[in-house]
Amino acid sequence: MTRQPPSQVTDRTDGSTADASRINRRTLLTTIGVTAGALGIGSSTTAADVQPVTDVPGFSCGKRHFTCGREVAAADGMVSSVDPIASGVAATILRKGGNAVDAAVALQYTLNVTQPHGSGIGGGGFMVIYDAAADEITCVNSRERAPRGAEPDMFLDEDGDEIPFDQRHQSGDAVGVPGTLKGLETARKLYGSRPRQQLIGPAIKLARKGFTVDDFLAEQIAENWWKFNDAAKETFSTASGEPLGAGDRLVNADLADTLALIKRGGTDPFYEGEIAADLVETVRELGGTMTTDDMADYDITLDDPVRKDWYDVEIVGQPLPSSGPSVVAMALKMLEFCGIENHELRSPEMYHLVAEAITLAWADRMEYMGDPEFADVPIDGLLDDDYLAKRAGEIRMGDSVAANGCADPGVPPGVDSSGELSDSGGESGATTHFSVVDKHGNAVSYTSTIEQFMGSGKMVPGRGFMLNNELTDFDAEPGGPNEVQPWKRPLSSMSPTMVLNDGVPEFTAGSPGGWTIVSVTAQTLLYRYVYGLDPLESVVEPAIYTYHCSDVEWDSGVPERARETTAEWGHDWDDEASTLGNVQVIDIGEDELIGAADPNRDGQAVGFDRGGCR
Ligand code: GLU
Repeated sequence: MTRQPPSQVTDRTDGSTADASRINRRTLLTTIGVTAGALGIGSSTTAADVQPVTDVPGFSCGKRHFTCGREVAAADGMVSSVDPIASGVAATILRKGGNAVDAAVALQYTLNVTQPHGSGIGGGGFMVIYDAAADEITCVNSRERAPRGAEPDMFLDEDGDEIPFDQRHQSGDAVGVPGTLKGLETARKLYGSRPRQQLIGPAIKLARKGFTVDDFLAEQIAENWWKFNDAAKETFSTASGEPLGAGDRLVNADLADTLALIKRGGTDPFYEGEIAADLVETVRELGGTMTTDDMADYDITLDDPVRKDWYDVEIVGQPLPSSGPSVVAMALKMLEFCGIENHELRSPEMYHLVAEAITLAWADRMEYMGDPEFADVPIDGLLDDDYLAKRAGEIRMGDSVAANGCADPGVPPGVDSSGELSDSGGESGATTHFSVVDKHGNAVSYTSTIEQFMGSGKMVPGRGFMLNNELTDFDAEPGGPNEVQPWKRPLSSMSPTMVLNDGVPEFTAGSPGGWTIVSVTAQTLLYRYVYGLDPLESVVEPAIYTYHCSDVEWDSGVPERARETTAEWGHDWDDEASTLGNVQVIDIGEDELIGAADPNRDGQAVGFDRGGCR
């Protein structure tokens, strides 16, 4: 979601008569810098706001077959990611005949190089795949696991107090056994059509030859310098030892060598060979318990998606241990039961209902959710229509359920009584979400992370990649369903989601941002489906973020009157606006794919049209 609302979406609660659901799409695109020509199917227009991508061999936005922009349309393939280089690499794979999974795998390998602050082989993620030929959805779950030596109280000090976050997120105990590489290679083997060598090749070249550091990466290097180990400092600095700035070139020869080992040997060198040994040594030096056996035994799971009907479509996404799509579905279903469509976009009533539904769903998340391999989660009860209708019935216009502190969890079917709320806190904005759709209708919605920006801040010396600090997603306090346990996966908020119409994907969405992910993903779907906004409009429409207690963060563009009115109803709004999420979406029409990338970072959608005779 962006800080900059389209200028023509005026503040209707302040007296304007504009109907935001009828925003002129081309005016909007012009406002945020995309040329109208970039919308034409089959065109190869370079959009005005799009940075020239010179680092991808065989790709340029001006080249035939490709259309680049914040929002573009194309017929034969679409990529939407936060990084123009990675989007370009993925689009090139589509042009060479690769499918959506091939392109997504190449994209993630590339992000490891170009956006080391957000994701990589030192982390984990969730890849939701629609296989068009089989008409099936599978979730490749590469969430990190706690090492077998992890203890429920490992984030408490000797007095039983929580170790401060800034301290614990850099410790070896915070590092989970990484899953991303196994996820990528499993997805490629099961659903891809191209050899690993072809998909990892562009990332190796980029790491070896270097690429230009953009503003966002420069900012992340500067802001996280304090927690970098020597290896990270060396990689992210100039020859004179200064942090790399925007416009500098980042060469990461160690990472190129690591990826070259993977290119030749697949996952083995990483999980069982020399890279595993170095990774474990680094974690143990930081005080962690990870062993080479933990690395060798790591494997992904293939999960059936969580599914929930909503109006006349179905919301589908990664199930637990991500709470994301389940909580998105719970909140949206409550909003359907509340009849949110009867309230105007940006009205106080709309924001109130959104905040209330998310608050109630969040209270249930905190009470009941954890890794289903370890915790007995009443997920069917939480998604049950009668339960959600009853929960929605707790929402009253003019009075917040969290007005006096925190909302209580409900008692879904399958549960006798409620216990204490647990709280692991946390939102950061790290992580990355991207989507790819190919000409066969295969679709990928993938959220990938190393947790905080730059993860733990520690790079494996000589290997060029950052280690995650994902285990801080566990509750520091033992006792709840999300307490630390050996070999358990921490509860996530990542929400790689698809919306199905008649069983077929027609929209994909997701975002980084820790706990805020759920709020912004839910609102993107709300704005697209209930308020009828176009894909990019649904991404830039100002969102709010709340959880089971009453603070509300907001994108600029949320009208002052809506904030003032709902404050009287018990909502505790932040004084200043925030920048929430970074949403990438693809809309899948019968003859046209529309990709949209959130303008609040450098995101870029790239469409592919094969041209020629059809
Ligand atoms: N670790 C977080 C999660 O799995 C994502 C981190 C972020 O997006 O900031 O929910």
